[in-house]
Amino acid sequence: GREIHLKSRPQGEPTQSNFELVEVTIPEPAEGQVLVRNHFMSVDPYMRGRMNDTKSYVPPFQLGQALDGGAVGQVVRSRSPALKEGDFVVGSGGWRDYSVGNAKGYSKVDPKLAPLQAYLGVLGMPGQTAYVGLLDIGKPVAGETVFVSGAAGAVGGLVGQIAKLKGCRTVGSAGSAQKVAHLREKLGFDAAFNYKDGPAAQALDTLCPEGIDVYFDNVGGEQLEAAIGKMKNHGRIALCGAISQYNATSPTPGPRNLILAVGKRLTLRGFIVSDHQDRYADFLRDMSGWLREGKVTLEETVVDGLERAPEAFIGLLRGDNTGKMVVRIAAD
Ligand code: NDP
Repeated sequence: GREIHLKSRPQGEPTQSNFELVEVTIPEPAEGQVLVRNHFMSVDPYMRGRMNDTKSYVPPFQLGQALDGGAVGQVVRSRSPALKEGDFVVGSGGWRDYSVGNAKGYSKVDPKLAPLQAYLGVLGMPGQTAYVGLLDIGKPVAGETVFVSGAAGAVGGLVGQIAKLKGCRTVGSAGSAQKVAHLREKLGFDAAFNYKDGPAAQALDTLCPEGIDVYFDNVGGEQLEAAIGKMKNHGRIALCGAISQYNATSPTPGPRNLILAVGKRLTLRGFIVSDHQDRYADFLRDMSGWLREGKVTLEETVVDGLERAPEAFIGLLRGDNTGKMVVRIAAD
């Protein structure tokens, strides 16, 4: 089997030289453990933070060791009564061909409900992020205007679709004309703009003339400042991420207009999806229902081959993906 190690910590944008593909012997499961052959692994923006040697809500990756993260695959050996050989599971043993671990660390998934990789996206962590971040943190009401940045990505695309389902007017931003067309034509956004075309504040003036009720922030920086400027009184901002800052090598300035949050009585609230496991059952029921009924579309960008996982990760931070970025490790 093969796995990918963190060879050096990126300074700014990650490069291929930060990663190393290493040949290892396939591990033997101990009592209570299973051996899983990975079919797909996830690359996610939060992994960039784990490549720095800093304290955060997840510990940093260690130099010279395999990276990890979401992966879905099939149990090929089991020494636990909880899982049997042939079961499909999702776990956190990504960035490698085979993972071994306690059976409790894996959850069974149903490959008949959706393609396996959907459990890394729409039916997985990003899907649940969109669900709790929009519904529980943003609390949109039918008729309100919801703006989401990073709208062509895994989380953002679902936020827009759920907001639409809830009867809101949806406005999204993304980094290319093609993505903007995708938002309008495939994801049902009422309006969309390319944040690289000009100031976000100007685009929001045009597209949200009456203001924004809920802003779902995936990117921070200029777009967060522009959204604060355009929020209505009592508006809610769900702080999900700030990808425009993940490669920064020194602290970045905050929104210069934060004082507006006072007069407008805004709520700005950060959240981490893993704190909301009490909503997992609701999320899975609703999202799989919406998928089945065709109310939510499954969007993904697939990169083929474990050896190309670093390329997929670097591409994710550059915007190469539309929908969830995944790496296919095994074809069957
Ligand atoms: P995406 O699928 O959205 O991929 C990242 C996207 O970010 C790229 O496709 C790119 O699209 C965009 N991007 C890159 N650089 C910039 C920039 N400078 N300004 C604006 N956009 C940029 O990733 P996810 O959906 O997985 O994650 C989206 C956000 O949600 C991230 O901030 C992530 O950290 C956060 N997150 C938070 C969680 C939580 O629990 N709080 C859980 C999961 C995700 P484009 O071409 O449009 O630039």
